Amino acid sequence: MSQPTLSPRPSLPHPTPGLSFWHRTTRAFPYLNSNSTAAVPPSSKYVVIGSGIAGALTTFSLIKEQGIPANDILILEAREAVSGPSGKNAGHVRPDAFRGFSMYATVHGPEQALKIIENEKLVFERVAAFVKNNDVPCDFHHTTTFDVCLTPEFAALELKSFQEYEKAGGDLSHVRFYEGDKAKTKTGVQSTVAAYEWPAGSIHPAKLAQWLLSSVIEKGARLWTHCPATSIARSSPTSGWDIHTPRGSIAAEQVIHCTNAYASYLLPQLQESITPNIAQAHSIIPSAGLAGENALHNTYSLRYSLHHFYSLIQRQGDGTLVLGASRTNPKLSQKTRDSLVDFDDSGCQEEIVEDALHTFNALFPESARLGQKRQGEGLDQAWTGIIAKSVDLVPWVGELDGFEGQWVCAGFNGHGEFLLILTTIICLIY
Ligand SMILES: Cc1cc2nc3c(=O)[nH]c(=O)nc-3n(C[C@H](O)[C@H](O)[C@H](O)COP(=O)(O)OP(=O)(O)OC[C@H]3O[C@@H](n4cnc5c(N)ncnc54)[C@H](O)[C@@H]3O)c2cc1C
Repeated sequence: MSQPTLSPRPSLPHPTPGLSFWHRTTRAFPYLNSNSTAAVPPSSKYVVIGSGIAGALTTFSLIKEQGIPANDILILEAREAVSGPSGKNAGHVRPDAFRGFSMYATVHGPEQALKIIENEKLVFERVAAFVKNNDVPCDFHHTTTFDVCLTPEFAALELKSFQEYEKAGGDLSHVRFYEGDKAKTKTGVQSTVAAYEWPAGSIHPAKLAQWLLSSVIEKGARLWTHCPATSIARSSPTSGWDIHTPRGSIAAEQVIHCTNAYASYLLPQLQESITPNIAQAHSIIPSAGLAGENALHNTYSLRYSLHHFYSLIQRQGDGTLVLGASRTNPKLSQKTRDSLVDFDDSGCQEEIVEDALHTFNALFPESARLGQKRQGEGLDQAWTGIIAKSVDLVPWVGELDGFEGQWVCAGFNGHGEFLLILTTIICLIY
C-alpha cells in the first residue's frame, strides 16, 4: 500500500525556475527585471505580492475599477516578472462545461456546484471579451474544445457527469456530443470512444499577464522584481503591515497575496489548505502531418480516466503544439509521482516527457506518417510549473480573518481562467 504524500514545508519560489516556451518567446519584455537591485521604498499604500495573472489583474482592477491611484500600488515579485505558472502553463482558456459538477457537488452541495460551472462559462466569455475590447496582443484563439474519451470506462463516467449536471438544471445547450465514427471524424483521433465539444480558446498566457503589467506600470504602479516578501508583521497594534524583503521593509495599509501555490510561506495558516503540485508541459514543432493545412484548429483534453489525461493546443500563428501531461498519471512510477509534490520548477521529468511523446504519437499517428522527421521537428522543450491545489477545489479569495488589511487571491487548482471574475469580486468586496 502506498503511503499518503505529506505536504512539503512552505517555500519561497525556486530562485532559478526553468523557462517555458512562453518565456522563451517574450525575453524582450521591458519590465522583466524591473527594479531588480534597488532598495524598496519605505511605504506604499497597497502592496500586491506576486506578478502572475492574479497580481497583474488585481492591480489592473484596483486602478481601473476602484479608481485607486496607480502610484499607490507596488508589486513585489520574487523572481523575474511572470515567472510562475502564469508564464508556464499549457495555454488553455477552457471552461469546465459539466465534468466537475459531481465533484464540486460533493464538497459544496449541488446549488454551489451549479454556480461554479456556470461561472466557468461566464469567465471564458469575459476573458474573450476583455482581450477583444482591449485589443490585447496575446495570440487569443477563439475556438471550440474537445473532451476526448479514450476508454469506455471514461466515456461512461463522462456521460454520468453530463446527465447529473443536466438533471440538476445545468445549461448544456452549448455542448455537442459525438460517439463512434462521428467522434473519430470530428476529433481526428481514431481511438476515440466518444467526445464532447464546447466553446473555448487558447492564449499566449505570458503575453496576457505582461500586457496587464505594462499597462499598470505605464499608469504609475511600481514593480520590484527578484525581491521576495520574506515575512509580514503588524506596523502598530492598530493599523498597517510591515513587509520584509532582502532589500528593506515596506509599510503598507493593504497587502494582497497573489502568490498561489506559495501562499502558505507568508500565511502558514494556509499550509494544509493550499498545497503545491508540479505540472509539466511540452512544446512540439509539428511535422508535415500536423503542419500547414493539416494544423489543428480546436483544443483538446485527451482522457483515459479522470486522473490520466493530456491537454493539447496548436498555436494558430507558428503552429507550435503545446502538450500538457496530468501529474496523476498511473503509468508513472510512484517515485516520479511523489517527486511532483514539491516547489522545484527548475527542470523537468524525463519519464513524463517520454510518456507524453509516446501518447501523442499514438493518438496522432499522422504526425509521424506524413513525411520523415526533419531536423528541427519534434520535441522543442519541456518545462514545469507549480500548480496550487486547494483543499475545497476552489480558490481562496478575500480578506483574512484576524488580519485586517491582508487579502488573498490564491489556490487556482491549475485553472487560471477563474481569475478575471475572482479579482473583480475581490475589488467589489473592497
Ligand atoms: C504546467 C502547467 C499547465 C497549466 N495549464 C493551464 C491551462 O492550460 N489553463 C489554465 O487556465 N491554467 C493552467 N495552469 C494553471 C495556471 O497557470 C495558474 O492557475 C495561474 O497561472 C495562477 O496564476 P497566479 O497569478 O495565481 O499564480 P502564479 O502565476 O504562480 O504567480 C504567483 C507569483 O508570485 C510570486 N511569488 C510567490 N511567493 C512570493 C513572495 N513571497 N514574494 C514575492 N513573490 C512571490 C511567484 O514567483 C509567481 O510569479 C497550468 C499550470 C501549470 C504549472
